[in-house]
Amino acid sequence: MAPKGFVMRAAARGLRPDPRMPLSEWADRYAILPPEAGPEAGRWTTHRVPYLREIMDRLSPHDPTETIVVMKGSQIGYTQGVILNFIGSIIHQTPAPTMVVMPKQDLAFQLSRERLQPMLRKTPVLAERIQPPRSRDAENTITFKRFPSGFLLLAGANSPSDLSFHSIKFLALDEVDRFPRDCGGEGSPVELALTRTSAFENSRKVVIGGTPTVAGLSEIERRYLSSDQYKYHVPCPRCGAYQEIVWENLVWEKAADGNHLPDTVRLRCVSCKALIEEHHKETLLPAGEWVCTARHGNDGRVRGYHISSLYAPLGFYSWPHAVRDFLEAKKDPVTLKTFINTKLGLTWTEDAERTEPEHLAARVEKYDALQMLPAGVALITAAVDVQADRLECEVRGWGADYETWGLQLAVFGGRPDDAKTWAALDHYLMHTRYPHPSGEQIRISITTIDSGNWANLVYDYCRPRWSRNVFAVKGVGGAGRPAVISRNKSKTNKVYIYRLGVDTLKDTIHARLKLREPGPGYLHWPDNYDMEYFRQVCAEERRTRYSKGFPISEWHKTRPRNEGLDLLVYNLAALEIKGVDPTAYAKALARLIAERGGDPATVLPEKGEGEVALAAVAPPPPEKKYGPPKKAKPKRKPQYRNRGWLD
Ligand SMILES: [Zn+2]
Repeated sequence: MAPKGFVMRAAARGLRPDPRMPLSEWADRYAILPPEAGPEAGRWTTHRVPYLREIMDRLSPHDPTETIVVMKGSQIGYTQGVILNFIGSIIHQTPAPTMVVMPKQDLAFQLSRERLQPMLRKTPVLAERIQPPRSRDAENTITFKRFPSGFLLLAGANSPSDLSFHSIKFLALDEVDRFPRDCGGEGSPVELALTRTSAFENSRKVVIGGTPTVAGLSEIERRYLSSDQYKYHVPCPRCGAYQEIVWENLVWEKAADGNHLPDTVRLRCVSCKALIEEHHKETLLPAGEWVCTARHGNDGRVRGYHISSLYAPLGFYSWPHAVRDFLEAKKDPVTLKTFINTKLGLTWTEDAERTEPEHLAARVEKYDALQMLPAGVALITAAVDVQADRLECEVRGWGADYETWGLQLAVFGGRPDDAKTWAALDHYLMHTRYPHPSGEQIRISITTIDSGNWANLVYDYCRPRWSRNVFAVKGVGGAGRPAVISRNKSKTNKVYIYRLGVDTLKDTIHARLKLREPGPGYLHWPDNYDMEYFRQVCAEERRTRYSKGFPISEWHKTRPRNEGLDLLVYNLAALEIKGVDPTAYAKALARLIAERGGDPATVLPEKGEGEVALAAVAPPPPEKKYGPPKKAKPKRKPQYRNRGWLD
């Protein structure tokens, strides 16, 4: 007699459901979310996220739609509702070669470990078909799962080998705006992945999703705009008018003292102007319907949907939460862009107008850092640019929320191959002290030196000064790179070189140059900076060019000298390399001042309110941990006593 487990497994396999079952019905009947899913654990219910039902059902095997594009905000249940349920129904109902592509391989690992594998374990009809992963089992690893009549590959868009070898029937591409532009020299990873499906031309299903980025450059926006552009409309509980939930129609009150009251937020009906409370979502969302807003005549094979975080069901992401996020984010264009991209699911339109040097020059303020630092400065960095006849150095002070003050432009005359030139720089970096109004003396904590020219001389200088946080950096152009791309150790020179995504750093600086009011992100300059410096800061502009039809945005010089901008970039990079948040230093300094009975508000003007917003756009985590070369020391709270080089 066959063992009981065998009989049960065979029986379960024999009971494959009607393959024409819509995906939402399959998910409601079979998908089980693991306890890790928190309040959503247990049986999946499409009714919780009614706007996903149509998107899910377009992925059903009998539906003629071939490509589904979803431009979305975060926290709307997309990963489970669309991607994981799609995978589950494939394994159970319509097994075939399947691939999910994430921006990077580690994100594919994460999706598998944290979301997919727990669901496969918990959902009986899937657990029957996939054995738990074993370390030496090539048929079932974290990123590859074989099941009867098919397999699932979880790939990274940065891995050309994953995208090249398989013929795929079902394909899901997630967060496509974060894909690299080019995959190992073989072209766009989106196009590479799509090519894999060509053998299944009449039966393939492709779902492309993501939060958008910059208008005109966003991959998901480009695909959404060439689709029928469906939007989800819900009926007003008072007049019944169907309408989109848009940010512009959310209104909230202000207190008598001018403070915003996010908890009073309501949606103003476009028709009867009634104010709709968020709890009506319980009935609004299930009553909603997808409305086509553009006709593209692609015979319905491509369908595009837009859905923002404002539709998130009760308990996911609330309107008051969105208002609070917005109030924090609007302090800085960099954080505002993130809010618009990730919460509203919309692209950010770059202000094409260049910053004019005259406008910046008109902003200079009266202070002399060598006499007395501006009170907000809590941390000091320096950046050095190497020229044929001189070293140019800018020293900048940093305070809460990345507000920054130019402290000094220093030029060290002499050739870079003359040791005396470097000795002068060294003396300056080691011994300059800037007096702070609190009585502290602050010195330069981190220095970056551009190794683009005279690289070996820069390496020679930086090598023995690692412990003093003097780093050789090299700028790498190209949109979408992280601020710090990598840290490489040169074998011949025995020195670490940081490769910087300078276009990303320039985007941040460019956005902050537009700020008109001192506060988070604002750049200050003293009145001894000259007009030539400001011309150099404004010496580049962003241009978009097209390569094989794909928009590529790059920074271009508009005049030969741009050292002013480079020095701003390398000063900002100094913070990124060490992973230092100047707000923490401002707080540490404020604590010290308070201990002495002083007024900490001189350092933290707004109680550090911008901190949350800035944390939300924290730079992408570095690919490796950047510790000192020998052994990593534990992170310490910034201390102002015996303050010296950071460690
Ligand atoms: Zn109404």
